[in-house]
Amino acid sequence: MPDTQSPREPLARAMTHALAYLDKLDTASVSATATLDQLRSRLGRPLAEDGVDASRVIDDLVADVDGGLIGSAGGRFFAWVIGGSVPAALAADWLTSTWDQNAGIYACSPAAGVIEEVCGAYLKSLLGLPPNASFAFVTGTQMAHVTALTAARHALLERRGWDVEQRGLARAPAIRVLCGAERHGTVDRAVRLLGIGSDSLVPLALDDANRMRVDALRAALDADRESPTILVLQAGELNTGAFDPFAELIPLAHERGTWVHVDGAFGLWAAASPGYKHLMDGAAGADSWSTDGHKWLNVPYDSGYAFVADARAHFASMTHRSSYMMHEGDARDQVDYNPEWSRRARGIASYAAIRQLGRRGVADLVDRCCFHARALVKCIGILRGAEAVWEPVINQGLVRFRDERPGASDADHDRRTDRVIEQILTDGEAFFGGVTFRGRRCMRISVSNWQTTHADVEHAVAAIERALATVSAGR
Ligand SMILES: *Cc1c(COP(=O)(O)O)cnc(C)c1O
Repeated sequence: MPDTQSPREPLARAMTHALAYLDKLDTASVSATATLDQLRSRLGRPLAEDGVDASRVIDDLVADVDGGLIGSAGGRFFAWVIGGSVPAALAADWLTSTWDQNAGIYACSPAAGVIEEVCGAYLKSLLGLPPNASFAFVTGTQMAHVTALTAARHALLERRGWDVEQRGLARAPAIRVLCGAERHGTVDRAVRLLGIGSDSLVPLALDDANRMRVDALRAALDADRESPTILVLQAGELNTGAFDPFAELIPLAHERGTWVHVDGAFGLWAAASPGYKHLMDGAAGADSWSTDGHKWLNVPYDSGYAFVADARAHFASMTHRSSYMMHEGDARDQVDYNPEWSRRARGIASYAAIRQLGRRGVADLVDRCCFHARALVKCIGILRGAEAVWEPVINQGLVRFRDERPGASDADHDRRTDRVIEQILTDGEAFFGGVTFRGRRCMRISVSNWQTTHADVEHAVAAIERALATVSAGR
């Protein structure tokens, strides 16, 4: 009879496997090497009648996922905006599962409740947000948008005498949502999920630096002075890392009673660096903000944060009381601010990351990533057949690869760019993604991992040079 009761052996196995994985991160392929079919055949074991020993489950799991994991936890991953995990956050995340607390209300886990309370204050201080803002620890920026815009919907409609929690949206005054012409898809999904509908989105023109134009906002506000209005601004536009001119836009929007929300999934962290916080000038005047812990703070997934200046509106839009719940004095119940009911005590990992890094460590992490992003764009940009398309404002940049045959067209350059990216992924020495920016295919560069070093940058540039040579030779 296998010992399926004691957690000792499976946990020890997991620890050994975890350390072996982390030790290999630096040298292993960053791309997946297993195929879809391989993964399906290994992992798709028939559902068994009888279970197996817990340690065996862990060993099989590790063997079966081999080649199917992406090296995004390490320093040579530059696609999307992913981030790794600082050691204290990773270890605290293990403990979060071990403790298995339900962080729905204070009574279910007083320690988890207080950790989120303390960590919320840490985050507001690091990010330069109003000390009285309310907050929620959610799964990511997607749900942070939903949470913040739920508060926005409440406040805007309450001002018009409409109780949206009670009456719904069917006959309510229609809300319109002003947003950048380039924005993250999570804004659109939040608007859909809230029943406001994507037809309510009004995309506004950006300038050459990918920042929202002040005249475009003024015109949109003038065009409709009646509808309850939300304005979604960006701290760190996805491709360029651009910051909207908050100090000009926010007062203009507020003159008309518009609710201003800031999508700062990664860019909000610029506020934590003395060298970059000027980009956030005026942003603290907004009504709500979203950001991620799992990106630039380097906390394991899932970790996002919503902040709302009007804590009362946030509370009113989310709170629920039930006879079986227990509420204690002035303790903070997460369910009053979170869309989830039962939930993981995900604040613990954020708390640990911030304690490990301190204010200076967070600033250094931001500065280092920005520095490496600039170095990557610069070093790639001077390679034969490559060009820099966007110098990073913070940690995001764009490059492109040119087809150097005489008479090559834009379509040829696009193909060349995709082909080089593909070749880099085949080599597995670094990981980048492609994007269409202003009609042209580009390779996006994002640095958001604490582990990325100068050596990783050199390693990645060498890998790109090799890929360029392979593709140019038509091999
Ligand atoms: C990643 C990202 C999001 C979405 O965040 P999730 O944590 O994936 O939900 C939203 N906006 C921007 C600018 C992002 O980079």
